Amino acid sequence: MTAIVLRNYQKQAVTATLNHFRQSQESAIIVLPMGSGKSLVIAELARLARGNLLVLTHVQELVEQNHAKYEALGFTAGLFSAGLGKRQTQEQVTFASIQSIANGLTEFNQQFSLIIIDECHRVSNKDDSQYQQVISTLRERNPSLMLLGLTATPYRLGQGWIYRYDYRGFVRETNHAVFDHCIYELPLSQLIREGFLTPPVCIDAALHHYDFSSLIAVDHQHQTQALSHLLRKYPRVTRAITEEVVELAKSRRGVMLFAASVEHAKEIYRYLPEQQSAIITGSTDRQSRQNLINAFKQQQLKFLVNVSVLTTGFDAPHVDLIAILRPTESVSLYQQIAGRGLRLYPDKKDCLIIDYAANGFNLFSPEIGSPKPAADTEAVQVFCPLCNFANIFWGRRDEQGQVIEHFGRRCQGLTFQGENKRQCHYRFVFKECPFCNHENDIAARRCEHCDNVLIDPDDILKRALSLKDAKVMRCAGISFETDQQRLIVIYHDEQGDTLKEAFDFSYTKSRHRFNEQLGRRMYMGSKSFNSLDEVFQLEAQFKHPDFVIAKRQGHFWKIEEKLFDYQGRYRKANQLY
Ligand SMILES: [Zn+2]
Ligand SMILES: [Zn+2]
Repeated sequence: MTAIVLRNYQKQAVTATLNHFRQSQESAIIVLPMGSGKSLVIAELARLARGNLLVLTHVQELVEQNHAKYEALGFTAGLFSAGLGKRQTQEQVTFASIQSIANGLTEFNQQFSLIIIDECHRVSNKDDSQYQQVISTLRERNPSLMLLGLTATPYRLGQGWIYRYDYRGFVRETNHAVFDHCIYELPLSQLIREGFLTPPVCIDAALHHYDFSSLIAVDHQHQTQALSHLLRKYPRVTRAITEEVVELAKSRRGVMLFAASVEHAKEIYRYLPEQQSAIITGSTDRQSRQNLINAFKQQQLKFLVNVSVLTTGFDAPHVDLIAILRPTESVSLYQQIAGRGLRLYPDKKDCLIIDYAANGFNLFSPEIGSPKPAADTEAVQVFCPLCNFANIFWGRRDEQGQVIEHFGRRCQGLTFQGENKRQCHYRFVFKECPFCNHENDIAARRCEHCDNVLIDPDDILKRALSLKDAKVMRCAGISFETDQQRLIVIYHDEQGDTLKEAFDFSYTKSRHRFNEQLGRRMYMGSKSFNSLDEVFQLEAQFKHPDFVIAKRQGHFWKIEEKLFDYQGRYRKANQLY
């Protein structure tokens, strides 16, 4: 029997798992990037398991690979996969594909005590999915069944985070997470630093590139259509990019090009040297796909164009140039693509990763957990004024690098009350309950504290618009002036019209009102102001309301209501539609 020699972080992942399941039966995940040797971690966990263990994954290659790794260490395990023609059900450890196990559970008469799911971001949170059905059937047989997932990306596009509590002390904003805890995560940067992966050289293409930013606003269904429409606008760009890639490839061994659509892939393929290139799309049949991949791995082919089929599980270590010609919706997806070029290979010093799609992702930046709201946004750090947790949200900075805006809604810090952990209740944006003043999520219909129905901001606007003596301003900006100790707040609309209100800072009550109405709404979290100087120092950080409602009083307009963080039918200032 070969002793398992684990790398440091692999040991840490195993220890974290043992510690977790000794204390808790709640499900957990471990996050390990590609190239970190996940199958070795699985093998060690299998070796240490006392009860029966089932290792599941969705692709046959991975079932085979994990099984082989385990048996290479001198252990015996069952293999259960229709595709591999194996239906072994009597071993303590079984490696299986989810499709086969979903149809063949009755063949097992044993109880499992632990399920390990590799590539666990593939587990859907829908009750009728194969994974969920297998898990619930096995849980009926053994109520104390434990569940561990492994993945490189704990995030599922369109569904969000796949777990809720993070061992580093925060909560993931998620509705219906499949897993409870993340108990260990190894950052990609550490793997590279320690020499287990090839260093990337990431470049944003300067000369020839696409601009896919208009696609952000398009919903998923219409993406393909909008995409081909957009690509037709770039007849020369695709050719220029491909020529540039071919030129750069002269000093490279293997090149992968990621296209945006089948049509696009075919176009790219046309510009590549015919004898050295191949194209793989979703409709390439299994056999030709295998042949092409083999030829590419053996370096008989140099260029491989594909449309979102070779992101995970594909392994050609010699790849040293990645060209991204497609929009990528998340950091995770960008990392998966770039990761194809980071494997170690003899004499490979680096991997060139060129982004021709202006995705603007940093390979090492964390996943934010929501799609990028606009092309010019980036990951920014925002401290919670209540618990001090450093949140990472999408946001914008000014020229000095100061965060001036962000899209976070609620603090993700974890707070403890005795044994109970809870998400910090601080909200950066909120809808205030008029009955109990509780701060609710902006999408909430009812107050989560007193259960009263929250007034729809559209009703407020509709009502105000119908009144003769009222004015509804679509607010585009805010500025301050002083009049001795009085602070004049000026709200501006798109046409240059203004509405004003004053807060007298020599009165506690007036100061308090200012802090409640405007200080509480600061981008970087609420602040309490005692002097006009303090207000002017942070002038740029004040958020303007989306609508200001005023009522005529003689010759003046008196501001009655301000609507912040509006979501509804009416157009906001500077919104195109
Ligand atoms: Zn907090
Ligand atoms: Zn309430």
